Amino acid sequence: MPIESVNPYTGRVERRFRAFSWTKTEQILSQSHRAAATWRTTSSKERTRLMHRAAELLRERQDELARLMALEMGKPIADGRAEAVKCALCCDYYADHAEEFLADDEIKTDAQRSFISHEPIGVVLAVMPWNFPFWQVVRFAAPALMAGNVGLLKHASNVPQCALALEKIFHDAGFPPATFRTLLIGSEMVEQLIADDRVRAVTLTGSEPAGAQVAATAGRYIKKTVLELGGSDAFIVLADADLEVAAKTAAQARMINAGQSCIAAKRFIVEKPVLREFISKMKTHLLAYRPGDPLSEDTQYGPLARPDLADELTEQVTDSVAQGAKVELHGGQSKPGTALFRPMILSNIKPGQRAYSEELFGPVALILEAKDADDAVRLANDSRFGLGGSVWTRDVQRGEELARRVEAGAVFVNSMVKSSPEMPFGGVKKSGYGRELSYLGIREFVNQKSIWIA
Ligand code: NAP
Repeated sequence: MPIESVNPYTGRVERRFRAFSWTKTEQILSQSHRAAATWRTTSSKERTRLMHRAAELLRERQDELARLMALEMGKPIADGRAEAVKCALCCDYYADHAEEFLADDEIKTDAQRSFISHEPIGVVLAVMPWNFPFWQVVRFAAPALMAGNVGLLKHASNVPQCALALEKIFHDAGFPPATFRTLLIGSEMVEQLIADDRVRAVTLTGSEPAGAQVAATAGRYIKKTVLELGGSDAFIVLADADLEVAAKTAAQARMINAGQSCIAAKRFIVEKPVLREFISKMKTHLLAYRPGDPLSEDTQYGPLARPDLADELTEQVTDSVAQGAKVELHGGQSKPGTALFRPMILSNIKPGQRAYSEELFGPVALILEAKDADDAVRLANDSRFGLGGSVWTRDVQRGEELARRVEAGAVFVNSMVKSSPEMPFGGVKKSGYGRELSYLGIREFVNQKSIWIA
C-alpha cells in the first residue's frame, strides 16, 4: 500500500510520503533502543508531568487533529474532536495512576520480604489501524511511556499525517524525541523489525490475518504480543427491553465511525415477539442519520475510509442476500469505487451466509431471530469473534446473568459497548488476546519481576 493521504469524500490525494528505507528505520530503532536505557530511569513525577502536557496539547490541537482525521479517513469533524479529547483523558488517566498501578505487589512467603516489581521492557512496536487513528495509538502509548517503555509506531498506510501529528504532540510535550517515533513504513517491514533483538514486544490492533501474521513472526522470535482484532458484537434484545431506547442505541452503536469500529454492535439478536417492532424502530433511527462531507459540522456519518472497503462490504452484502438474507433497509454504495455507504438492515441471517460468520466493517445491521434468552446467548456465542456484546432487558439481574454467559471481553447491560481508560479492553477467541486500558493494560508490557529477600 502506498503511504498517502487520500480524502475518501473527494477522492483527492492530499499528500504522498516516501516510505522509510530499512537504513532509516534501523537508525531510528537504534536511537529508540538507546533512549530506552535512559527513559526507564526517569522519575515517575517527570513522566507524569510530560504526559499531562501531552493531554493539554491534544485538547489544544483538537481542531487540527479532527481535520486530519476527516481528510485522511472520513471521520466527521465533531467526532474527531471528541476522539482527541478522549485521548487527552487517557493520557491524564495514566499520568495520574501509573505509579499506583506499577507499585510493588508485596507477596507473603517465607522470605523476609518478597514482592513483584514492574519494570520496563524497552522498545515496543505498535502496528495500528486507521479507524480511530489517535485513540488506538494513545491507548497503547500513554501506558507504555508511563511504564518507562519506548514506542515505535507503524500506523496504517492511509493515515500518515495523523501518525506524524501524534509524534509531534509527544515531542512538543517534552518527551525525549526517541521515546516515541512514527515509522512511515509498509507492513512488509514489520517482520524485519520484530526479528530485531532491540524490539522487545509487539502490539497490533487490526484484522485477523494481520494479527495472525504478526503473532506468528513474534512467536518465532519469542516476543510478547497483544492482539486487538476484529469483532462481530452481539446486541441482544429481550422481549422485556425498553424497545425505544434499545432501538435508538442500536442505531447509534451500529453507526459509530460509519460502522467501522471493532466494538460496533453488528449482530442484533432479538426475541421473536419484539422482532418486527425493533426492526421498524431501528430503521427510523438509521434513516435519520445525515451523511455528508466529514469537514462539515452537521455531518453525522462520512464515507468509509477507502472506496475498496466499501466495495468489499457491498460484496459481503450481495453474497449474503444471494445466500438468503433479506434486505429490510436498502442503502449501500451508489456505485462501485465510491466510499459513501448508506446504512442497511439485513434480516433472516442464518448459518452458511457470509454475514453470519464474517465481520461486516461498515453500517450494515444484521438481525437474527432468537426463540428465547438461551437461544439468544447461543447465537451470540456462535461466532469466531468475542470482543464485546450488550444485553437489553428491564430485568437487570437477568441481564447480569446473561452477560456472564456471553463469550466476549466486555458485555454491557442496557448500554452500548464503549471503551474507557478505567476498564480493560480486549477480546477472546479470534478477537485477540491481552488487554489494553485499566491497570491490566499497563501491566502487559512490563517485566513482572519476582524479588525475594531471604
Ligand atoms: P489491517 O488491514 O489489519 O491493518 C491494521 C494495521 O496492520 C495497519 O497498520 C496495516 O498496515 C498493518 N498490517 C496489515 N497487514 C499486515 C501484515 N501482514 N503484517 C504486519 N502488519 C500488517 O486492519 P484495518 O483494515 O486497518 O482495520 C480493520 C480491522 O481492525 C477490523 O477487523 C477491526 O475490527 C479491527 N480493529 C480492532 C480493534 C480492537 O481493538 N480489537 C480496534 C480497531 C480495529 P498497512 O495499512 O500498511 O497495510
